[in-house]
Amino acid sequence: MNAIGTLGSHCALQVLKGAKDEGFKTILVCERRREGLYRRFRFIDRLIPVEDYRFEHAFSEGIQNELHDNNCILVPHGTYISSMKIEEIESIRVPFFGNRWILRWEADRVMKERLMLEARLNVPRSVSIDELGNSSSSSSGSGSSSSSSSKDAGRLVIAKLHGAAGGKGYFLAWDRESFMAQYNKLLSKGMVKSLNDLYIQEYVLGVPVYLQYFYSPLSREVELLGIDRRYESNVDAIGRVPALQQEHSGIHEVSYNVVGNSPLVLRESLLDEVYRMGERFVAAAERLVKPGMIGPFCIEGVYDQDGRFISFEFSARIVAGTNLYVNGSPYSYLLYDEPMSMGRRIAREVRTAIESRELDKVVT
Ligand code: AMP
Repeated sequence: MNAIGTLGSHCALQVLKGAKDEGFKTILVCERRREGLYRRFRFIDRLIPVEDYRFEHAFSEGIQNELHDNNCILVPHGTYISSMKIEEIESIRVPFFGNRWILRWEADRVMKERLMLEARLNVPRSVSIDELGNSSSSSSGSGSSSSSSSKDAGRLVIAKLHGAAGGKGYFLAWDRESFMAQYNKLLSKGMVKSLNDLYIQEYVLGVPVYLQYFYSPLSREVELLGIDRRYESNVDAIGRVPALQQEHSGIHEVSYNVVGNSPLVLRESLLDEVYRMGERFVAAAERLVKPGMIGPFCIEGVYDQDGRFISFEFSARIVAGTNLYVNGSPYSYLLYDEPMSMGRRIAREVRTAIESRELDKVVT
């Protein structure tokens, strides 16, 4: 029998519950301080306690051997990317569900943009520091609507860290001065080492939407299994303070620290393009990152005032927003007459692949 395993955080509960429902043994590699939480759930068969999620602890020789001996298939999630180097993730000797090589394209923002452009997604323009004007020259820009990708918020840019940082350390700037002031703060906190650690993009005004897809290499179909939006602090709180009060509130920085996710359904007329975007993404990944997209992925962006979707990000693996739908979503219910979480969908794909002797199509 095969086992399905993962690291204890992010979406581990959903992944292992889905694996159990599909008849797999379940294994959790778990930080000691989180053991109490995960021991509450009876669908976890084996819990391997570790010091923390650094590679040398979470995937020591001994642990890799144990996973191997259990015929374990690992399901990667955001914590892998935020706690290990990409080379370390790639070197793990246990099979991954999905394409492990595409995680590098997710973690590196320049590669990420290339894949998104290849998929013909509308992406916000990336901006170099040299393009950020001085405070005197930029103030006239806010009224112009000359943006390449959308009706953006004048010349506002958003600076992001590489990797799955959960929005931590991101900041907004409108000219070189405001950029450098905030960059220097990150520098002094040790969150960046150089300007290369930041990726700058034009800020797009719109309603944020996270599209949760699954691609099956067995059926060669893209499924939309759910949609969510994130709750990010403090940016989602600032809108509740009127502009006048904001000026006097001492709020100088916005942050995009993800606190949770809430469900969302889209206008039905937008769904056709949602499917097409997913299909273009799968086709682009097949061209650029062999063997292409396998399993869960997410395209993330905003709908602007004209109902146009501008996407600033993708995740090439399961996202935590799928935790909303442990019991299925309105979209998964249209495809499956049973509760189908993303975690369960992964396990179903593994099971089908084992039954049809095509496991090599879904693991790397
Ligand atoms: P990301 O890590 O790229 O998903 O970004 C974290 C959050 O920053 C998103 O959930 C959005 O709220 C916001 N964000 C990122 N990029 C942009 C953008 N280009 N325009 C507007 N908001 C953005």
